[in-house]
Amino acid sequence: MNRLAGKVALVTGAGRGIGAAIARAFVAEGAAVVLAELDLDTAQATAKDIAAAYANARVLAVKTDVTQSASVQSAVSEAERTFGPVDVLVNNAGINVFADPLTMTDDDWRRCFAVDLDGVWNGCRAVLPGMVERRAGSIVNIASTHAFQIIPGCFPYPVAKHGVIGLTRALGIEYAPKNVRVNAIAPGYIETQLTHDWWNAQPDPDAARRATLELPPMKRIGKPEEVAMTAVFLASDEAPFINASCITIDGGRTALHHE
Ligand code: NDP
Repeated sequence: MNRLAGKVALVTGAGRGIGAAIARAFVAEGAAVVLAELDLDTAQATAKDIAAAYANARVLAVKTDVTQSASVQSAVSEAERTFGPVDVLVNNAGINVFADPLTMTDDDWRRCFAVDLDGVWNGCRAVLPGMVERRAGSIVNIASTHAFQIIPGCFPYPVAKHGVIGLTRALGIEYAPKNVRVNAIAPGYIETQLTHDWWNAQPDPDAARRATLELPPMKRIGKPEEVAMTAVFLASDEAPFINASCITIDGGRTALHHE
């Protein structure tokens, strides 16, 4: 349980859902963790839960808006002042923006890209100079199976998530000679508030939920903890030669041609 001992990690959007599970798993593995989150209340509540669960947990909640590069930079500075240089960054914060392309507003387009793609770049840009200088670092970007596959009417979220894979590959190649690894995780359906909000936005939320559970060959959707385990692996020294890659976590759904 010490796979991240001595490491300092910053996880964006860590107040709830997948980000909270990653923060918890990182602390369990010995890392000091900064929860960089828009909603300071959820971040503080999650930090308190984690601190209660693990003796000597080193955990800090910092209000952060990933759409603002200065806000992300300031979270990184606070992490460094409190715990030391950031070894691991998880760009997890993301929002669903699902619309019809031609009726979508300009604001929807901008909101989606501001969080789902600019937010990832803002995180990378804030930590990369230090990682390059120290010749060590691991960045894990939370993409989605929407980064490879399209569902009609779910625009422009998949466009931004395709961009996250492009950014991951480009930065992974750019900084490989400096021993900085940049990888992505592409989750399928994972049970979080995001998924519940989507079900509740459907005309029949219960039917939407049942239909979602039928999609993966395993006939269930994923748990945030199942994404967190892979984030631990990619962040750790167990993955020294994995770079510019993406690991899909969807119970096999995207490999399925049809039933
Ligand atoms: P949640 O909506 O449950 O959690 C997202 C967190 O990010 C929230 O705490 C939210 O804060 C925070 N956040 C939103 N905007 C910002 C911002 N501008 N700056 C900082 N934090 C912000 O989502 P999930 O845990 O489900 O998703 C996490 C990631 O996983 C996202 O990138 C998502 O696209 C991806 N993903 C999720 C899947 C799923 O099925 N759940 C599937 C595939 C990918 P607030 O509460 O204030 O909004």
